[in-house]
Amino acid sequence: MTDVLVIGAGPTGLTLAIDLARRGVGVRIVDTAAGPSNASRGKGLQPRTLEVFDDLGVIGPILDIARPYPPMRAYVGSEVVWEGALGESRPASPDVPYPSIRMLPQSITEAILRDRLASFGVAVEYGTTVGHVTADATATLADGSVIEADYLVGADGGRSTVRRALEIPFLGETFETERMALADVRFAPGLLDREHWHIWGDLATQELALGLCPLPGTDVFQLTAPLAPGEEPSDLQNLVLGRSGRTDLVIQETTWESLYRVNIRLASSYRVGRSFLAGDAAHAHSPAGGQGLNTGVQDAYNLGWKLASGSAALLDSYQAERQPIAAAVLGLSTLLLRGDSAAPQRGQDTDQLDLHYRDSALSQDRRRVRSGLQAGDRAPDAVLPDGTLFDRFRGPSPTVLVYQARYADAIELDADAARTYGVGGGGFVVVRPDGYVGLLADADQGDAVAVYRTTLL
Ligand SMILES: Cc1cc2nc3c(=O)[nH]c(=O)nc-3n(C[C@H](O)[C@H](O)[C@H](O)COP(=O)(O)OP(=O)(O)OC[C@H]3O[C@@H](n4cnc5c(N)ncnc54)[C@H](O)[C@@H]3O)c2cc1C
Repeated sequence: MTDVLVIGAGPTGLTLAIDLARRGVGVRIVDTAAGPSNASRGKGLQPRTLEVFDDLGVIGPILDIARPYPPMRAYVGSEVVWEGALGESRPASPDVPYPSIRMLPQSITEAILRDRLASFGVAVEYGTTVGHVTADATATLADGSVIEADYLVGADGGRSTVRRALEIPFLGETFETERMALADVRFAPGLLDREHWHIWGDLATQELALGLCPLPGTDVFQLTAPLAPGEEPSDLQNLVLGRSGRTDLVIQETTWESLYRVNIRLASSYRVGRSFLAGDAAHAHSPAGGQGLNTGVQDAYNLGWKLASGSAALLDSYQAERQPIAAAVLGLSTLLLRGDSAAPQRGQDTDQLDLHYRDSALSQDRRRVRSGLQAGDRAPDAVLPDGTLFDRFRGPSPTVLVYQARYADAIELDADAARTYGVGGGGFVVVRPDGYVGLLADADQGDAVAVYRTTLL
């Protein structure tokens, strides 16, 4: 009997499998693909995801290869007509160590996650297709064999077999007329510099005709070319010629190619019995604003410690916490896709640092006077005499923070950090294993801390 069966080894499934494996949970992760994907797809890693990757022990290799988004350079033919940045880079601060989005092809993110998973002795079982699942976490494979687990998680992408088998409606729309040609392409070295995102289009209407974005860690460019309603995608070389007017841009090799349809949908339920959904299986996004992969990684990070605990209250909180976030993100990425004037700005509105679980049953604020952070907010980093708070959070357990108070195995905040956390003299903070403030309490409420801690285990 397997403890948890994870179906799908994209970024969501891999994150979940790592979080479970590091807790000593028996996990199997299967994927229908013959082997790892080389597709660049979700290339934007948001600041909150970088914090999750820090906790999971992969931030070093991620930042070794990832790069800031390059400035954009717009052309008419070969002539540069505009240059500008896509959002601003912000400096790191004691509470936000990773303030800016980083670019990394999804294939490399997945490779780094797979390596980390392997360090716990777990390998992705490729070429393993799940054909059917039931609410009692039983999966039937395409070859007829059966895997029984305590829990099962469908992280099997937008066309999720798990979601269909559980008969969970996927509410929303597919915009058949809004399509985009996508590919990873290689040109002769030196033909296009790798310091800019090269674009062709109508500057006045901001309509993109062709984008060629250099992908860190590779020698390829991600090609994006929106298609007009009814337009049949021609071959990529013709598309590049037609959209850029440049005969010298000869594609030497195409390493991945896809036709993307705008799909904006949300699963009506994230769980049936002991079977769960996470990532694109639960929510389909527009690619604008770089939210899909990031939202999936954070679903996994929210679910891992709850599955490991098996507590009914914690497991119930998964949908309650994550579904409203996906609904809000879907609205946000849709506004960005439409170029709506009410659309939020890329940066602070899309970095996912402000997402919170304030309305969750797990968020408890017992302070008599409330200021600063609220229960359910992201627990910020802070400088300690011997490192940082994030150093101390790293790992699978909850953490108790104190300011001028005593509590067994708690971390002592200084005055600056206490101000950031909004705790006065003698105050307590309990930080959940996934880095959110669970409980805020006053000096005389040490008992509440003890009780609350047991609910997180
Ligand atoms: C052009 C483009 C740009 C994007 N840009 C961004 C971005 O900047 N930032 C961002 O956050 N997101 C972005 N995204 C979205 C991102 O790629 C997805 O949100 C992300 O891949 C979702 O991860 P996932 O693990 O949930 O699902 P997937 O990556 O789809 O993985 C699902 C896995 O399940 C496997 N599987 C499917 N069915 C079965 C089955 N029956 N049995 C076993 N295995 C199965 C598949 O083989 C696959 O490996 C972009 C997407 C596109 C197309």
